[in-house]
Amino acid sequence: MNRHGSTAGSKSSARFPNLEGPSGALCGILLFTWVHALCFPVAMGLPALDLKFTILASGNIPLALALGGLTAFFLKTDRSPAAPAFRLGLLLGSASFLLSWLAHFAPSSATTSFALPLAAVLLLPLLLGLRRLPAPGGKLRLVINTSGIALWALGISGLGASPVKTASDHLNPRRLPAPATKAPEQAPDVLLISVDTLRADDLFDPELELSAFQKLKQQGLWADYARSPASAALPSHLAMLSGRHALSQGKLQASGAYVPEAGHLHLAEGFQNAGWKTLGVVWNTFDMNVDLVSKGFDVYHNLAERDFRMDLYRRCFHTTWLGVLLPGPADHRALFWLTRKRVPGLGPNPRDTLLKHSPGRATQQLAQAYWQQIRTQPDPVFFFLHFADLHQPYLPDASVRGRLTRGQSLPPAFDSSKPDSPGITDAIMAAWPQQKKEAEKAAAHLHQVYREELIFVDACLQAVLSELEKHDRPAVILLTSDHGELFGEQQKLGHRGSLHESLLRIPFLLSGSGVPKGKLAFAPHLEDVLPTLFGLCDLPLPPGLNGIDLLQSEAQSRPHLAIEGRQIAYWEKPWKLMLEHLGLPGNEKDMKAVALYQVHDDPGETQNLLEQKPKIVKAMTLRLQAWLEDL
Ligand SMILES: [Zn+2]
Repeated sequence: MNRHGSTAGSKSSARFPNLEGPSGALCGILLFTWVHALCFPVAMGLPALDLKFTILASGNIPLALALGGLTAFFLKTDRSPAAPAFRLGLLLGSASFLLSWLAHFAPSSATTSFALPLAAVLLLPLLLGLRRLPAPGGKLRLVINTSGIALWALGISGLGASPVKTASDHLNPRRLPAPATKAPEQAPDVLLISVDTLRADDLFDPELELSAFQKLKQQGLWADYARSPASAALPSHLAMLSGRHALSQGKLQASGAYVPEAGHLHLAEGFQNAGWKTLGVVWNTFDMNVDLVSKGFDVYHNLAERDFRMDLYRRCFHTTWLGVLLPGPADHRALFWLTRKRVPGLGPNPRDTLLKHSPGRATQQLAQAYWQQIRTQPDPVFFFLHFADLHQPYLPDASVRGRLTRGQSLPPAFDSSKPDSPGITDAIMAAWPQQKKEAEKAAAHLHQVYREELIFVDACLQAVLSELEKHDRPAVILLTSDHGELFGEQQKLGHRGSLHESLLRIPFLLSGSGVPKGKLAFAPHLEDVLPTLFGLCDLPLPPGLNGIDLLQSEAQSRPHLAIEGRQIAYWEKPWKLMLEHLGLPGNEKDMKAVALYQVHDDPGETQNLLEQKPKIVKAMTLRLQAWLEDL
């Protein structure tokens, strides 16, 4: 194929008039492949221009050559087919380019199989407008074609390909650099543990033997539950790490999307500035927002980090003609075959490999390895440890699988789906109206599988805490979560699209040096994490916090606000007012109260008292609006 193309360029015109077509088309598409490859690494924050060029060229050149050949074949006149073929090549290449931008701004919808032909149709008027555009002259075409083909050949031969990260690379601790300033004498190590998707009630269920959690509870300060400001990972974690409400860390759009904004001091930054080493061991799948969550960490070790080449491959793949025209999985196979040398590790991402072996175990082993490194060094450490096992899909480790579900399975209606299948919760929710009993049973079964995962996380946590106990330095440990999980409450599963109490009530266990033992008389907010930890370490509190230091004597219960999509939950003991909004903050007036619950007596939120209590609804709405204006 490439011999064909470059011969066409080198021995142009009269003797091989039939090669003028492929040569022109190739020139058109390679020009745009260069433009495309040069533009996008910057826009996507993805390097590897040559990889991008290789994938795009592999997926687009075959069609350009074929259409260039056809142009030459059907253009039975004296005219050279180079110019029309060149314009065709430009059209094919620019459609890829246009689709890439569309996919960049609307990732899910823009890469469907008809999107690339649609982009070409959109660009067709441009082609007609350019119908007098000549093809580059023989020499220029030769330069463009040979340089493009040379880079492509370099790419598919794998020259210069850097090694792909493997799962075991992910499990090696990195070196923590020495802090720029000196921390005070006897400054404690601080361990903040976020067990993603952990509901508070399961933690205290006497039927589950959770010895590590129990120990943390017995040796320190705890609450029945804390309140989370959101039922999604990103806004909750931003609140946890900034001491500010999710809404002062970002905006809610009319679509319900949460758009985070940077700028506020982060827990890790505060510790870093004060002389602590800062380390995050996380299973971060918060998509593109790693930069925000990882602020201030000397080392932010994300076990769920994907190799960027996989993302590049995935994105480029959908914007090439080969990817669109061949039926799947032949399209994957063809493109992979062409580019495999350049992407040697293509296949399972490290994250997927680790997931098969329970992320908790990997998280635990890495945390232990880091503690061993920390122990040999004098500086205190702020360590943010994030467990993700409880998040869907529910895949209990072999050591606990069947502990609570032995001999049980999902009801026959869901037989084809397994608890670890990502679509199972949707299938159960869809069946709820018609098959209520079966759906309830299925939800209860999933809850048990989730609790098996909790037993596993407890064991991992136990191992991490034992490692920490080997130190003779003072330490502070705070364990919490970002949100809970639903198992049939309001006929829902998972944690999106609802602000039910089971989603907002998360655990809160604080222990270590300077922490009194006992039960908090009120529910802390997730925003209290930063001021409380700073207070324990004698660090100054930044201005503008929404959270409070829980160890100050005046700490008490406060109204609470939570967000998810277009929903707001405003809680003022004992009432919970549910509202719908059209974008926040900024459009506070565009809010509508939709439900009022007395959550103390009605924790299941089954009795909507909106009609019966108009005065309460009105007064609460006004106070909420004032609060939102303040945020
Ligand atoms: Zn989460």
